Amino acid sequence: MYAKTLSAMIKEYKPNKFLLPATNMGRSLSAKTAIFAGTGLTADATEVVINKEDGQLHATRPTFGGNLMATITCAHTRPEMCSLRPMAYAKAPRTEGRKGEVVDFAFNEKDFTSLAKFLKFIKSEGEGLDLSEAEVIVAGGRGLGKPEGFALLEKLAKRLGGTVAASRAPVDSGWIEYRRQIGLTGRTVKPKLYIACGISGQIQHMAGCSGADVIVAINKDPEAPIMKLAHYAVQGDLYDVVPAMLEALN
Ligand SMILES: Cc1cc2nc3c(=O)[nH]c(=O)nc-3n(C[C@H](O)[C@H](O)[C@H](O)COP(=O)(O)OP(=O)(O)OC[C@H]3O[C@@H](n4cnc5c(N)ncnc54)[C@H](O)[C@@H]3O)c2cc1C
Repeated sequence: MYAKTLSAMIKEYKPNKFLLPATNMGRSLSAKTAIFAGTGLTADATEVVINKEDGQLHATRPTFGGNLMATITCAHTRPEMCSLRPMAYAKAPRTEGRKGEVVDFAFNEKDFTSLAKFLKFIKSEGEGLDLSEAEVIVAGGRGLGKPEGFALLEKLAKRLGGTVAASRAPVDSGWIEYRRQIGLTGRTVKPKLYIACGISGQIQHMAGCSGADVIVAINKDPEAPIMKLAHYAVQGDLYDVVPAMLEALN
């Protein structure tokens, strides 16, 4: 098991802080590693800061179903461990000449036994959908008014080489699957272009997309919060604007 080897490395090298990505594998690995290493873990953090005064890791994550943001510290044990949501931060720029140290670590082969057995790999239905890797996302909100509205967004997304996503409202209405939800209780994305159609721009939604390079909002209401948060705000009915965009692109 990787967790046993990682925790053995932690005991040997005694790092003060230890971070893992909160991917499917990282979530499982970080929890087991923390247990074996006898320390605490803040799982699925959306923000991490090293406090200047006490040098401690302050990890923030949504709690109580996203109603509160909790900042958690690990006061008494080391390392301070945290799994951090992928795409929570932009990639650091490359620093020429910067090097890490590679160490050889002898692992115990017995640790690589597990009660779990790999039977077979079943590909999920939405194969190919990786919102966190998408460079262009066309997202729809309650303003679509009907589930069929996503077919129009799909056309635009396809034309731009991107994929479709949603705010929570259409997901709650059953118009689109949850795995396409962007926001605090959905996915965090960092595309080059995020086109929000009929989305008002509530804080819980923007938490998932404000890292996009360019945000374009299409909304009937000039006072909708997203119209101030977007780089380009298009005031109008999405059922006029999106077909016009498609026509111009074609
Ligand atoms: C604990 C918690 C967690 C949450 N997590 C998330 C989350 O992860 N993701 C998320 O998205 N939300 C989340 N929410 C919900 C969030 O607060 C908002 O309710 C939600 O984002 C609203 O979705 P919306 O913008 O699609 O709908 P609305 O706020 O209803 O906005 C619809 C917009 O569409 C516009 N519109 C209407 N018709 C048209 C048209 N024809 N053309 C153009 N514009 C039109 C309207 O002017 C309006 O601005 C969470 C809420 C809570 C309390």
